Amino acid sequence: MNTEFDDLYKQVILDHNKSPRNFGVLQEYSHHAEGHNPLCGDEVNITLVLKDGVIEDLKFAGTGCAISKASASIMTTMVKGKTVEEAKELFDEFHEIVTKDPDAEIAADEVGKLVVFSGVREYPSRIKCASLPWHTLLNAINNEEAKAITV
Ligand code: ZN
Repeated sequence: MNTEFDDLYKQVILDHNKSPRNFGVLQEYSHHAEGHNPLCGDEVNITLVLKDGVIEDLKFAGTGCAISKASASIMTTMVKGKTVEEAKELFDEFHEIVTKDPDAEIAADEVGKLVVFSGVREYPSRIKCASLPWHTLLNAINNEEAKAITV
């Protein structure tokens, strides 16, 4: 990874950590889930309005490290207004990026905002922080009662 890219990645993470998008709890929602990452202590709570297969609105709340918070914030901006199918495709792409060989090249335009998480590959213990919001989102979509726990 080059330094310029590393800086970009850090900037995006820090920005979303400082000013998280879609932060809070929706007053009225159709779906909800909670997630916990015991390794780091990250907690995330997602509320969303799912109508006719479209994620019309969603918010996240919780406490956690900069990576989990930034990941949740970026995730909400990406899946808002998308269909459940599209959200699941994004999750697959996200998962592929963070688990890819750290030496593998990822084109910046290949996956849009998700590319910032390619930096997480360098820190394997942080992969769970970054993936927690996505697992919790899927549980919310499926109206899963059990907490999403990354192990
Ligand atoms: Zn964390």
